[in-house]
Amino acid sequence: MEVTAIYPGTFDPMTLGHIDVALRAGKMFDRLIIAIAESPNKKPHFDLDERAAMANEIMQEHASIEIQSFDGLLVDLAQRINARVIVRGLRAISDFDYEVQIAGVNRHLAPDVETVFIAASHDYTFLSSSIVREIASFGGDYSEFVHPVVVSAFNRKGR
Ligand code: ADP
Repeated sequence: MEVTAIYPGTFDPMTLGHIDVALRAGKMFDRLIIAIAESPNKKPHFDLDERAAMANEIMQEHASIEIQSFDGLLVDLAQRINARVIVRGLRAISDFDYEVQIAGVNRHLAPDVETVFIAASHDYTFLSSSIVREIASFGGDYSEFVHPVVVSAFNRKGR
């Protein structure tokens, strides 16, 4: 049976940590949907279309990975596209409480959808979208933490 997995997040913007998790998850499942959440309450720096366009360009050579934007409940999207697995990345203990809580809620809402955690690679345990945005906003060099597509997007949009 083919297994579709969904890797949700805000991806504001996608970092090398996200890419690493996505590529590793991509090897585990037949199809991986990177689901980009609108996340209006996070007031993202990049709007949904910009975040999705960046992700599309970054992932274009990976045939089994697709990008989809969404708002609303993740489990609704998972059920709509027949995804049986939700992938989340875990960096440190600080991610744990929140992630386990969300996984519990999602299991309650959709018992057939299993959450799978992928441990961050050593090089990316400190890396987050918010760190990248912060370095960019102060004019620092964040280019080693992101795909060049993201650098172009900051240059276009301003930081
Ligand atoms: P959210 O707004 O849902 O927290 P993010 O876009 O910040 O979404 O992150 C999406 C997912 O990727 C989360 O599971 C997060 O823990 C994981 N993640 C973020 N940065 C990294 C990283 N450097 N290494 C591994 N996983 C990461």
